[in-house]
Amino acid sequence: MEIFDVAIVGGGPAGSSCAAFCALAGLRTLVLEREKFPREKVCGDCLNPSCWPVLERLSLAQRIRDLPHSKLASVEFIAINGRKVVVDLPTGDDCELSVKRSLFDDLLLRRARELRAHVREGTTVTALNCSHGPVARPGRDAPQRRGYSGDWRIETATGERFSARTLVGADGRNSTVARLCNLLPRPARERVALQAHIPLPRNFGRRVVLQFLPEGYSGQAPVNETELNFCLVGTPPTISRLRRWAERHFEITSDQSWRTITPLTRSPVPCARENLLFVGDAARVVEPFTGEGIYYAMRSGELAADAITKIVRDEDRQSALREFTRACAEMYRGRLWINRLARMAVLWPHVGSLFVQAARVQPAIVRLLTRKIVSREL
Ligand SMILES: Cc1cc2nc3c(=O)[nH]c(=O)nc-3n(C[C@H](O)[C@H](O)[C@H](O)COP(=O)(O)OP(=O)(O)OC[C@H]3O[C@@H](n4cnc5c(N)ncnc54)[C@H](O)[C@@H]3O)c2cc1C
Repeated sequence: MEIFDVAIVGGGPAGSSCAAFCALAGLRTLVLEREKFPREKVCGDCLNPSCWPVLERLSLAQRIRDLPHSKLASVEFIAINGRKVVVDLPTGDDCELSVKRSLFDDLLLRRARELRAHVREGTTVTALNCSHGPVARPGRDAPQRRGYSGDWRIETATGERFSARTLVGADGRNSTVARLCNLLPRPARERVALQAHIPLPRNFGRRVVLQFLPEGYSGQAPVNETELNFCLVGTPPTISRLRRWAERHFEITSDQSWRTITPLTRSPVPCARENLLFVGDAARVVEPFTGEGIYYAMRSGELAADAITKIVRDEDRQSALREFTRACAEMYRGRLWINRLARMAVLWPHVGSLFVQAARVQPAIVRLLTRKIVSREL
């Protein structure tokens, strides 16, 4: 059986970026992805300008701009009482852009394949075994040992087996890899998100709308000339009321199908131990309100590829892992506090609404916060 240098579970932005950078470095790279692409995903579809440098390093920036998309000119915050405050977004090539995840994720995964990563779609990972560590299977034998140093054996739902020297969990917020390794935090009683693409209302414009509602909030952004990305975030008891609100205000029929996801918050998973790394949502879930998750996913994928390249080339493993952990912390530094602020605002929408009203009097505060979120990272 061929032993890959790295096996990456999940082909979303984190897994595909990690795979593309590993393949660029000449590593024998395997991606195992549960779905068949292209597929949609619960997301606001907005690309934070910080994504551009990573996309440029993958030679993908122009190809993303060539996809059907919308260039977003402003963000409009709407309080529960309907009062609004509008903030301009950056213009030019580094603008905030929205693109459907079916197109974006498919292009990223194709790039990994072009760079000679071995990609298996429609392949669900179900069991893991580290040769110097214990077997991990759902529901039994979950390993108590918190470090893994041998080769990984990976099993899939169809009974296929793969081997790799390092393993990356890039399989999202409900990470199977973290669960199998007994690292997934216990799920909290949490919120739920719904998402759909609906016909773009006439004269909607090129704005992102973030609207506080008594039961939660809604995010709306055009993704092309004809479609609007529509997200609702609430709690299990309130989400059907939010859906009825959307049906009334956006001419959505009651048989509209919605994609759904939970949780929206959970504790982070340590991003590195021996030859096991976590990237993107699998490592840390951030509040979606600020639209940064795709950037964190791609950048952490790139940082993981750097660490894995050093490990595979027999450089000092511990210092490569330390550097990866430090760089991940650095990536979030200075940004996470705004995300936490946003989480407070959406958990208590009346407080969020008061903030919008204060921003109408003192717009400099909300402009500053928005600029901090949408500034291009190098
Ligand atoms: C309501 C909402 C709105 C959001 N809006 C935005 C936004 O506008 N902008 C933004 O930047 N971020 C946004 N986010 C966050 C963003 O969607 C995530 O941060 C991003 O998708 C994380 O990428 P990832 O690659 O880590 O995980 P994912 O995109 O979740 O990809 C994980 C992949 O792993 C695969 N997988 C899972 N289990 C297995 C398995 N056992 N075997 C094989 N494959 C598996 C899945 O099929 C999936 O393709 C939003 C999130 C929510 C909930």
